[in-house]
Amino acid sequence: MNAPRAAARTQPPWGRLLLRGVRKQCPNCGGHPVYDTWFRMKDRCPDCGLRFEREPGFFVGAYLINLAVAFTLLFVLCMVYVGWKAANPDAGVLVPISVMVAVGILAPPFFYPYSRTVWSAIDIGMAPLEPAEEADAAAALAASRGDAPPEPGIDAERRP
Ligand SMILES: [Zn+2]
Repeated sequence: MNAPRAAARTQPPWGRLLLRGVRKQCPNCGGHPVYDTWFRMKDRCPDCGLRFEREPGFFVGAYLINLAVAFTLLFVLCMVYVGWKAANPDAGVLVPISVMVAVGILAPPFFYPYSRTVWSAIDIGMAPLEPAEEADAAAALAASRGDAPPEPGIDAERRP
């Protein structure tokens, strides 16, 4: 039987993780702002020090989320147009096509920051932070606040 590690922290529930992602907050702690500009995400959370890009290519999942959101919007608009056209056979096509083109162009940049924080939330939900990541985050946070970095292993040596 394995006893739970004393240092293990509780994982936020999925609902809280996703809500933080939708709000453009750090999925780990809810800290914000995690963006310097609309398109420029900070490397680390300002409140907990979490490194958002957990591995190279990490944000490919965010692009898939953004693509899915844009395609879903276009599908819904297309179905609305089909229903509207069925009720009004003489309706034109220029306005609906213009709206769909505008949505297709504007939706991805609008949802870009949300897709990244939502993807971070999904990833942390599927693969909780490793102790090394938590230690890295704590060290980065201490360094950013001007504190001395914790000495690794000093607690383990002092334990009886
Ligand atoms: Zn955080």
